Amino acid sequence: MTVEGKDNRTCMNNSSPYAGEDAKLTEGHVNQAETACSPIPKGTPSSSEGDLLLKYPLWGKSVPSLSSIHLKAVLFDMDGVLFDSMPYHADAWVTSMTKYGLPMTREVAFMNEGRTGMSTINLIYNEVYGKDASKELIDEIYLDKCNEFAKHPDPDRMPGALDLLKKLKRDGITPVLVTGSGQHTLFARFDRDYPGMFERDKMVTAYDVKYGKPNPEPYLMGLKKAGVKANEAIVIENAPIGVQAGVAAGVFTIAVNTGPLKDSVLLDAGAHLLYPSMQALCDNWEELFVQLK
Ligand code: MG
Repeated sequence: MTVEGKDNRTCMNNSSPYAGEDAKLTEGHVNQAETACSPIPKGTPSSSEGDLLLKYPLWGKSVPSLSSIHLKAVLFDMDGVLFDSMPYHADAWVTSMTKYGLPMTREVAFMNEGRTGMSTINLIYNEVYGKDASKELIDEIYLDKCNEFAKHPDPDRMPGALDLLKKLKRDGITPVLVTGSGQHTLFARFDRDYPGMFERDKMVTAYDVKYGKPNPEPYLMGLKKAGVKANEAIVIENAPIGVQAGVAAGVFTIAVNTGPLKDSVLLDAGAHLLYPSMQALCDNWEELFVQLK
C-alpha cells in the first residue's frame, strides 16, 4: 500500500499466527468515509482469528504522522507490554470484587486496565449502588486485590520485550517506563528482569502522577522525563485506556494485542498501528524504525 511521502512498505511477521502472511504497514490521513474512529470494518476477525496485522489511519488532530517522527524515545506501558501480568491482575480483580459483592468479569478487568484502583472500584460500585464508594471501602478492596495479586508467582517477561529493548539501545533510542503501577517491588523487578534498560529518572509510576490513564498526564510526564517532544517518541500500549492516554498526549501510539480483547477495541481507542504481540513488534522493528528516523 502506498504511504504518503514514503515508499510502499511491507513488514513480514514470521513469529505470529500470521506466519507467512504479509503485514501491511501503512499510514494515511483519516478517511472520513472509513470513519474517524473505526478503521476496521465491523465483523472483522480478531487477531486470533487472523487476517489483520497492522492498522492505522486514525490521525488524531495533534498526533504526528509517521513520516514526521524523529524517534528519540519509546514510552513503554508495563503490564501486558513488558510483563505478562495481566491474567494475574484480572484474576485478582474478579476475586476481590466478587468477595465484596461487586460483580466483575475478566473482560471488564482487561477493558479497564490502566485505570487507578479507585477508578476501577468506583466504576463497578456505581453500577451497583449508583454512587461512589467510601475511601475506606476503596482502600480495603484495593488492599485485598493487591493481596490476591501477590498470591500469584512473579509474572514472566513478555516474550520479545527484552530483545526489543536491546534493539532500542543498539539504535540509540531511550526507553521510558510509563505505568500506573505503584508496586513497591517494581524497581527490584526491573533490576532483575530488565537490567540496565531503564534509568530510574526515566520511569513514570503511580507516585509521579495525579491523574491516571486515560488522562494524557502520564505520557506527557514520560515525554518530559525523556526530554523529548511528542514527535520524537512513540507509545507502546496493550490496553484501550492506555492507548487513549497515548493518543491524548499527542504521541504516535502502537498497540500490541497481548490479551483477550479484539483488535477493534484497541483500534477504536485510537491506536495508529497494531501488532499481535511484542514478539511481532520486535521482529518487525528494523522495518518500522526505518520509517521513524
Ligand atoms: Mg498495560
